[in-house]
Amino acid sequence: MKFDGYQIKACPNCSQLYKDRIVVSFNTFGARNFSDGYVEGDWIPRFTNIIKCVNKDCGKFFKLADQKLITEIAFEDREDPEWVQAFNTSDCVLGIIELEKALTTEFCNERENEIMIRTLLNRKYNHTLKEEIKKEMPEAERKSQIKTLVA
Ligand SMILES: [Zn+2]
Repeated sequence: MKFDGYQIKACPNCSQLYKDRIVVSFNTFGARNFSDGYVEGDWIPRFTNIIKCVNKDCGKFFKLADQKLITEIAFEDREDPEWVQAFNTSDCVLGIIELEKALTTEFCNERENEIMIRTLLNRKYNHTLKEEIKKEMPEAERKSQIKTLVA
């Protein structure tokens, strides 16, 4: 993977800032493709296309494509005091509990958004066992998953 700086973006609903790494190149050597569209590999960046705003006063779900671009900065400037408060979007990947909550919000009033959330949720359910084996699933997520499977 090769990166070249960051894009500084803002939540479409408030002024919370986010940092997105600018991916210049990556490869799929050795990657595993699953029938649900999920791809995992050592050289594939962890993409996400929907996040929940980390600003407690906002807390709305939004598509990264709807963010407002503020500026682009060099990698060395990521710790600049002006941008240090910006959250990395790669740290905001939604888990099962948040995805299930998103289904009950106005974000999913748009059919396209609901389909994206259900697709992400389906992949999370499909890969639960693998993530649990690798100990990547938080305890609360695991309990929610078991509750869903038993219901
Ligand atoms: Zn916000």
